[in-house]
Amino acid sequence: MPASQLTPIVRRISTPVQVGSVQLGGGAPIIVQSMTNTDTEDAQATAQQIIELAKLGSELVRLTVNTEEAAQQVPFIRDKVREAGYSVPIVGDFHYNGHRLLQSYPACAEALDKYRINPGNVGYGEKRDAQFTQMVEVALKFNKPVRIGVNWGSLDQDLSARQMDKNAASAHPRSAAEVLQETLVLSALLSAELAEKIGMSASQIVLSCKVSRVQDLIAIHRNLAARCSYAIHLGLTEAGMGSKGIVATTAALAVLLQEGIGDTIRASLTPEPGGDRSREVIVCQHILQAMGLRTFMPSVSACPGCGRTTSRYFQELANQVEGYISERMPDWSRQYRGVENLSLAVMGCIVNGPGESKHANIGISLPGTGEHPVAPVFADGRKVATLRGDTIVQQFQVIVEDYVASHYEKRS
Ligand code: SF4
Repeated sequence: MPASQLTPIVRRISTPVQVGSVQLGGGAPIIVQSMTNTDTEDAQATAQQIIELAKLGSELVRLTVNTEEAAQQVPFIRDKVREAGYSVPIVGDFHYNGHRLLQSYPACAEALDKYRINPGNVGYGEKRDAQFTQMVEVALKFNKPVRIGVNWGSLDQDLSARQMDKNAASAHPRSAAEVLQETLVLSALLSAELAEKIGMSASQIVLSCKVSRVQDLIAIHRNLAARCSYAIHLGLTEAGMGSKGIVATTAALAVLLQEGIGDTIRASLTPEPGGDRSREVIVCQHILQAMGLRTFMPSVSACPGCGRTTSRYFQELANQVEGYISERMPDWSRQYRGVENLSLAVMGCIVNGPGESKHANIGISLPGTGEHPVAPVFADGRKVATLRGDTIVQQFQVIVEDYVASHYEKRS
C-alpha cells in the first residue's frame, strides 16, 4: 500500500494561477521549478540552460532580468526555447529596477510568463508603492501573473521597523524571531492586497516568503497558508551546498507538503564547483516522489549493504542499475504510458533480499559473502530467473527491458 494511503495528505486548495502552459495551485500537481545561473545577457547560454532544465523535468524556469541588455535578450531566449520544442514557462526575476525594465522593454514583458516581484526592494519610501504599481500595471497590460516573493534578506525595512516598534509598545512583546516571521507574512499579504486594489485577481498572484532556516520557513508558511488562499511557492533560500542543502530543503519542504501546503517548489542549492543546475530539479522530484505526491521516475530500492556484502560488487550493481534506469527513462517515457511507476529492488544478500525483491515489480537478490554465487530475480513477487556468471548486470537489464515492454501500454 503506498504511504500516501496510510497517511493521507489533504492538500490546501489555493486559487489556481495559470502560468503559460502550467497551472499552479487549485489542486493541480505540485510544480517543480528551477532557476538559471547563466548571465541572462548571454541569450544562447541561458536558452540552453533552460532547455537542459526543462529536459530534466523542470516545469517552470526563472531567470534574472537585472539589466537593460538582459531585458533585451529575453524575447530571443524565449524564442530559442520554443523553437527547440519546449513550452516550459519562463519567469522573470526583478529587483530594484524591474518597474523601469518592464516599462521600457515591452517585448521582454510580453515574452515572460510571470514576473517575480520582491516587495522589499521594489523601491524605498514613497517610491515603493508607486514602483510596485508600475510593475503590476505592466502585468495587467500583458495579462501575466506575478509572484510576490518576500525574502528575509531583503525584507521591506519600513514595514519591519513599524512592526518592531509596535511589538516594543505591546504589553506582551514577542521575540524578535516571531516579529520577523510575522513581518514576512504581512509583507506578502499587504503587497497582494495592493496588487488586487490595482486590478489583479487572486488567480494572478502567487506568494512566497523565503528564509534560510528550516523552523522559520515552516512557521511562516503555516501562518501564511492559514491567512489567504493564494497559491504558494515553497523554497528554503540559500539552502547551501551538498548534503546539507539537500537535507535542509527536504526537512523544511516535507513538513509543509505533508500539511498540504505548497503549490510549487524549488531547491535553492549551490552547485558544487564544476557542478550544474540539474540537482535542484532532481532533488525536488525526489522529495515529491518520496512523499507519494507525484511520480517522475521508476524507484530503485537498494539495501545499504553491511558486513554480509564485503565486496564492492553489490554497490556497483546497484549503481549500474540506477544509472541504466536514468539513461533509459527518457526513451521509456516517450514509448510507454505509466512506466514512471515501475519499482525495482537491488538487494545485497539473502536476509532481506528475496523479501524486499518480492515487493518490487522487479527485484534482484545478490549473493552475500559466503552465499551460493547466484542471484534470484523476482517479477511481481514470483521468481522468474536465477542469474549467474560475470554478466549478471546485462542479464538483469534484459529482464527489465522485457518487463517494461510487456507491462506498459505503448503510446501511439
Ligand atoms: S539485505 Fe543483506 S546485505 Fe543488505 S543490509 Fe540487509 S543483511 Fe546487509
